[in-house]
Amino acid sequence: MSLHGDYDPQNIFAQIIRGQAPCYKLYEDEDVLAFLDVFPQSYGHTLVIPKRVAARNILDVDSDSLAKVMTVVQRLARVLVEELEPAGVQVAQFNGAPAGQTVFHLHMHIVPRYAGEKLELHASARAEASLLEQLQARLLRRINA
Ligand code: AMP
Repeated sequence: MSLHGDYDPQNIFAQIIRGQAPCYKLYEDEDVLAFLDVFPQSYGHTLVIPKRVAARNILDVDSDSLAKVMTVVQRLARVLVEELEPAGVQVAQFNGAPAGQTVFHLHMHIVPRYAGEKLELHASARAEASLLEQLQARLLRRINA
């Protein structure tokens, strides 16, 4: 059902886009927004979303908007790898609750992977605000360099 229902304009990412909910922003242009996941599965877990389309998932986004999102995904994946030096980086995206989706506005996960470290549970433990603030500042220095 969650794969095919209507777009809910009150979902948390829509609120973040409208400035009605806070985020640890890393990047924004007129089409794309990127911010830290507040329930990170690893250090540096980042989300990238389209701003101008009411798309729940990859099935109902137009290809131009998706391409703009993926361009930012690649750029930020490079930033995360350069700054945090993980051993790997995972790019993931889920469609429908049975596939693991919990927020129904299309988003790409960028998850740095560190040797020997398991992922935290999905959307589970909220990170300390101070940790997210420090990480945001660190990544913004690299992004804006
Ligand atoms: P998914 O389960 O693929 O729909 O991913 C949704 C992601 O959004 C999860 O990784 C959550 O930890 C994350 N998330 C939920 N609420 C927020 C929020 N307010 N700010 C940042 N990330 C969030």
